[in-house]
Amino acid sequence: MSAICTCGQERHLYYRRDGTVFHGDQNAAALACARSFGDADQRRVAVNSLWNGVSVSTVFLGMDHNWGGGPPLIFETMAFHTSDKYDPQERYSTEAEALAGHRKMVARYRWDIRAAVAALLHLARALAAKWRR
Ligand SMILES: [Zn+2]
Repeated sequence: MSAICTCGQERHLYYRRDGTVFHGDQNAAALACARSFGDADQRRVAVNSLWNGVSVSTVFLGMDHNWGGGPPLIFETMAFHTSDKYDPQERYSTEAEALAGHRKMVARYRWDIRAAVAALLHLARALAAKWRR
């Protein structure tokens, strides 16, 4: 279900970090949105590198990633891991939600021993490959 905005647009794709919309022509909006955050630093909301090799990163996406209808999802938290066995991902509408979600994700992986073992195995394999040469 898509509501029609006062600007006549059926759906908005591009947002500012404060959640306000880039109205009007969506090609121009895409450009304005990209300019509004410019570099990677301005997209970053929070990042934590944990002792066990898990890195939790939360960024502002700018573009609505909610393809199923409902509120725009413009923030994203991901947990990166050396084993590539999981890369959980959560999306949010506001920066406050994103920060809360980030803290939750950090708490979820902070004491993940499997991640630590995978990181050690990854390191051991890399060293073994180096020694074989
Ligand atoms: Zn509009």
